[in-house]
Amino acid sequence: MRGTARVSARWDVIVVGAGPAGSATARLLAKAGARVLLLDRARFPREKPCSEYLSPESTRVLERLGAEVLDAVAAAAPARLTGMKVVAPSGTGVVGRFDTFSFALPRTTFDSILRDAAEAAGAEVREGVKVEELVYDGGAVGGVVARATGNGKRETIRARVVVGADGLRSVVARRLGKVIRTAPYRVAFTAHVADACAVDDLGEMHVGRPGYVGLGPIGAGVTTVALVLPLAEARRGERFFDELNRFPGVAGRFDPRRIVRRVLATGPFARWSRRPAANGALLVGDAADFFDPFTGQGIYSALRGAELAAAAIVDTLATGASLQRYARARRREFAGKWLLERLIGVAVGWPALIERVVGRLIRRPELADLLVRATGNCIPARAALAPGVLAGLVL
Ligand SMILES: Cc1cc2nc3c(=O)[nH]c(=O)nc-3n(C[C@H](O)[C@H](O)[C@H](O)COP(=O)(O)OP(=O)(O)OC[C@H]3O[C@@H](n4cnc5c(N)ncnc54)[C@H](O)[C@@H]3O)c2cc1C
Repeated sequence: MRGTARVSARWDVIVVGAGPAGSATARLLAKAGARVLLLDRARFPREKPCSEYLSPESTRVLERLGAEVLDAVAAAAPARLTGMKVVAPSGTGVVGRFDTFSFALPRTTFDSILRDAAEAAGAEVREGVKVEELVYDGGAVGGVVARATGNGKRETIRARVVVGADGLRSVVARRLGKVIRTAPYRVAFTAHVADACAVDDLGEMHVGRPGYVGLGPIGAGVTTVALVLPLAEARRGERFFDELNRFPGVAGRFDPRRIVRRVLATGPFARWSRRPAANGALLVGDAADFFDPFTGQGIYSALRGAELAAAAIVDTLATGASLQRYARARRREFAGKWLLERLIGVAVGWPALIERVVGRLIRRPELADLLVRATGNCIPARAALAPGVLAGLVL
């Protein structure tokens, strides 16, 4: 029922979306003493199409979110990855190692840990509540109109700041305006399969003609596998496991009878907002920007973005300062990563180039480590963008 919206009490902050970006932002703000309402249209535990690898530097952010958060992740029996293998269309592969390890675990578990951590810090969490509109007070965002997915009741909820952490198809980003969608237009299909062959402590990226497959262990003998295809190819409607068998390094490793979670689809992905901060609102995580999953940096960006967002909001609540400093902080933090992930995201659409780069990396293993550490956020992305490194990859 779409009746008259009820108007409820005013909060300091409404966070829309309880994925990694929203839950981490809500936890940090609640810990800082803000009155925080965290809304999600889903009910947890909820699934999310993802390769479920947390780049190594994510561990540092989890530590800063609180020892109990990191402990809960470690206690969930995650897989521990020591590096990434990149396989060219011919089947030739190269391994780059982290100087540490990264966790990989199902998003149902990981996202529930973060959602619970937000609640434990004092945020009020409401599930089954879908935000539909922003409310404006004198030119500034002053709240949201939300609808309960169960009974359809609409409610206007007011806050001094609204955080859009509502993912790839963010309604908050669209209402703030200027969301850019761009090529490559790729879509993904992800599944969990038990007892896959030859899966060890590495994430694997297999580039094909066309598309790519990302796979890796997530604990308990389960492998997460993501097939990413150009939109036009996905429309051909080949079966998931038949498509996997097109990739020489993947063929025959998965038994369709051992699928333990249905195939989830998502995409196209590449989109970002030109306006991550507005008067009374900001965007974090995929709502602000997402390009392509190849480098597996989305969760790190969501968590690190949450730290930047919370710092800016705490300042705004205390002093009335503009949220624009958040947009500047994002640029400073992510400019190198944005360029690196876009270069790699475009390059994987050129199989001959990947063949060449993998050939170079086999001869220069130190470059393979450097690239994997830069995309794992262990070292600044600009280290991989140095002219000498780029030349070493292709010449
Ligand atoms: C195929 C694929 C593989 C990937 N693999 C990796 C990987 O291995 N490692 C990695 O780091 N990243 C990976 N990513 C990226 C990663 O999944 C995202 O970057 C990450 O989930 C972003 O977190 P978020 O909190 O911004 O958004 P989400 O996790 O999408 O959370 C958004 C939340 O908002 C809620 N929501 C949406 N709309 C509304 C609304 N109107 N009202 C209320 N709630 C709403 C949703 O229910 C959801 O819970 C992958 C992505 C894809 C597509």
